[in-house]
Amino acid sequence: MKKTFLAFSLLATAFNIYGQNIMDFEKYDPPSTLVVPEHKITRAKFPFIDVHNHQFGMATQNLKELAAEMAKLNMAVMVNLSGSNGSTLKQAVDNAKANAPKKFIVFANINFSGVGENGWTEKAVKQLEEDVKNGANGLKIFKTLGLSVKDNTGKRVTVDDVRLDPIWRKCGELKIPVLIHTADPKSFWDPLDEKNERWLELKTHAGRKRSDSDPAPFETLIQEQHNIFKKHPNTTFIAAHFGWFPNDLARLGKLLDERPNVVVEFGAVIAELGRQPKAAKAFFTKYQDRILFGKDSWVPEEYATYFRVLETEDEYFPYHKKYHAFWRMYGMGLPDDILKKVYYKNALRVVPNIDRTLFPD
Ligand SMILES: [Zn+2]
Repeated sequence: MKKTFLAFSLLATAFNIYGQNIMDFEKYDPPSTLVVPEHKITRAKFPFIDVHNHQFGMATQNLKELAAEMAKLNMAVMVNLSGSNGSTLKQAVDNAKANAPKKFIVFANINFSGVGENGWTEKAVKQLEEDVKNGANGLKIFKTLGLSVKDNTGKRVTVDDVRLDPIWRKCGELKIPVLIHTADPKSFWDPLDEKNERWLELKTHAGRKRSDSDPAPFETLIQEQHNIFKKHPNTTFIAAHFGWFPNDLARLGKLLDERPNVVVEFGAVIAELGRQPKAAKAFFTKYQDRILFGKDSWVPEEYATYFRVLETEDEYFPYHKKYHAFWRMYGMGLPDDILKKVYYKNALRVVPNIDRTLFPD
């Protein structure tokens, strides 16, 4: 019996290969035949604040043009996390003030070169204070901290390195939030095989593959991030990308329960929410005061997927990048009171100096 089955399997495999019954994973993408109501939304129901955006040339770019693109989406305010520091940051803030007042908020970045050198920490804190005086309203920490930042002896600077503590403390004193991206999706650490949900992304972006020694295990990096959340309860942290637990909302909920100084944003992870609309809606209901709207890359037409997952009860609709999600999306159908919190009320509370008059009650 067993032998017969084995022979049959081998024959079936051979037939599939030689009979051309196998096709490329990227090629197989059949249009859905499902007929259900569709609500393609190109404009958010309420004015919103995108707390996770990158405009790398803000010091010199045409912000009137950008603001006009934002208005089409009903994006009232954009938070540019790539503000840099020093004179570049000041120029970005001045450009925004002069050409698109109230439309942009700028976050500063730390220059991590030279960690460990005499006076590095004091200098970094002083720079941050100056940047805030010049109009920065938050600090963004890129994933390079933890992954690639090295100190002056060549050692990896951990996210919870004590030499950075005065920076987190200063943000609490200045009442500015720290939006922090640590690590990457857990799948980037997993074997690159047929069991990896991010197989296509790692195939098309080979540089994203990590391992336990390159530079450290996923859990180690996440723990380092959680350590600073715990050590600095007077500082507000915005954990980027749902803290890389958009696919484990129970674990994310536990973190939010333990750390009242932490909120989250869902940049680049809407596909995770769209595949679990019931659990995600329960999460958005329970943690409605802790979730901010974030998108990450500035591709205006991709916002439609975010609006559709948040606002509609549509079923089985496509996501815009197969390497993030080879599955389809479902809407959460959030009620207006929760939508308003996610679109703007929570950001108004967490990020200073956004003009409230741009938003309804
Ligand atoms: Zn980002």
